[in-house]
Amino acid sequence: MAACSRCGGETLATGALYSAVRTSFRPQESKFLTLETGDVMTKATMCRTCGLVEIVGDVSKLRRLTSEPEPETQKFVKTV
Ligand SMILES: [Zn+2]
Repeated sequence: MAACSRCGGETLATGALYSAVRTSFRPQESKFLTLETGDVMTKATMCRTCGLVEIVGDVSKLRRLTSEPEPETQKFVKTV
């Protein structure tokens, strides 16, 4: 199991972040295929020592929704 990137602690609790519904990530360049939604589900781990919460998205879903990063996207990311 991975260690905490903030304090190095090795006791991480796995879960997910919820608001009204579970928080998801929507890629800007979604192709919006027929049966799937454009949302990439996320999961989170929380460090039991320092409380750092890390969010990880489903990379295989992202790959299905988008192609490799386009120059436009990279430009967008740099300006944010
Ligand atoms: Zn920690």
